[in-house]
Amino acid sequence: MHKLAVAGTGYVGLVAGVCFAEMGHQVTCVDIDESKVELMKSGVSPIYETGLEELMQKNYAAGRIDYTTDYVSAYKDADAIFIGVGTPEQPDGSANLSYIATVARQIAETIEKDCLVVVKSTVPVGTNDKVEQFIRDFLINPVKVEVASNPEFLAQGSAVHDTLHAERIIIGTESKWAEELLKSIYKPFGLPIVSVNRRSSEMIKYAANDFLALKISYMNDIANLCELVGADIGDVAEGMGYDPRIGSKFLNAGIGFGGSCFPKDTKALEYLAKQHGYELRTVKSAIDVNQDQKTMLYKKASKRLITFNGLKVAVLGLTFKPGTDDLREAASLENVPMLLQQGADIYAYDPVGAANFAKLFPEGASAKGAISYVSTPEEALDGANVCFIFTEWGEIKALHPDVYRKLMRTPLVYDGRNLYSVAAMRDAGVEYHSIGREGAV
Ligand code: NAD
Repeated sequence: MHKLAVAGTGYVGLVAGVCFAEMGHQVTCVDIDESKVELMKSGVSPIYETGLEELMQKNYAAGRIDYTTDYVSAYKDADAIFIGVGTPEQPDGSANLSYIATVARQIAETIEKDCLVVVKSTVPVGTNDKVEQFIRDFLINPVKVEVASNPEFLAQGSAVHDTLHAERIIIGTESKWAEELLKSIYKPFGLPIVSVNRRSSEMIKYAANDFLALKISYMNDIANLCELVGADIGDVAEGMGYDPRIGSKFLNAGIGFGGSCFPKDTKALEYLAKQHGYELRTVKSAIDVNQDQKTMLYKKASKRLITFNGLKVAVLGLTFKPGTDDLREAASLENVPMLLQQGADIYAYDPVGAANFAKLFPEGASAKGAISYVSTPEEALDGANVCFIFTEWGEIKALHPDVYRKLMRTPLVYDGRNLYSVAAMRDAGVEYHSIGREGAV
């Protein structure tokens, strides 16, 4: 059992902290947001993740986890401090490291015993060398401190499961002491550990994420070509997926990738390459294809409808993927403002993301269009002239094609997630446009 502190209680920090506690470690989670800390102390998770709240309550009751804004007490005698604060994108595409720097300084000024600082946040290659130097420069007490890299691979929507059953744990260290300590912290998980140096570890995270982004953009590119030549991307993906060198996962064409990771991690790696005088052309293409993909359906619908002014538009799904309330870089954020600008009357449905979306687009009429939030997909579809599907929530997938025809004024559907078979929608009498398949216009 180790005494651990975790800086940042977002998707990465909170899930890591709770899973460390579940494995028997003594964990203190630190955040600067007092309201979040109060919420967590009362057993409520500030983020939506399956199974998280149960584990929070169980481990809090067992006295293995606590939450605080008082970083001094959390850091001073920790064996290891995990950093899981954000590294958001800056306007030039580089990663903003200011949150990491703040935590590094707080650690340097508070630790009273030898300590391993473990960076879980996604940071550009070489950052951890600087974090280590930075902490040593500001250190107050004469203690040993080292920095290790331990990138996180969880996917939002299945974060707890991904952490407890990870395919691998990557650890990047520069000394036996750091490697052994980190291995002993992860031992109770019983998972494969890949131990490399710090820079390789930092690169693994970007290389893996950007590969997945490339896979998505490649399939979207091929899907767009399928539409032009009369092939079906679903059939094409199925045929490709049998080849084990390709694999059958992540071959779904759609409205592009969003979320807090792929968009920023592709841009950050491209930026890093540029800084070193290298042009990362593959990743740049993935970024470009994705940007166009997000508005693909809007452009198709605009051609078909001339204008959205005064039309009732059903929007099904607001979050960037199902299973999360996170809206970062979601396709809805690109499309809804364009629809409003055109004077659309939007009825939006999302099973968990509507409240967050309403903070950005408050319910009611704006200068041009209007937006209302409804609690069932049927309410959104009732009397609608057109429907856009942006997220593949189970609640949306479960709708029978007949529902669209029965409820909509004009059964015209633009599906960014290819939820339905083209034939089933046609048979139900729905004019159906999806990505990379027959009937796409
Ligand atoms: P997040 O924005 O959800 O959470 C960050 C938290 O850090 C916030 O609660 C914030 O209040 C807190 N914070 C900021 N400054 C602090 C400080 N000085 N001390 C303590 N807490 C502080 O972020 P996230 O989505 O969990 O991502 C964190 C990092 O992990 C990023 O680098 C991200 O790229 C990476 N990552 C994210 C995911 C994901 O799916 N979200 C997956 C893998 C890796």
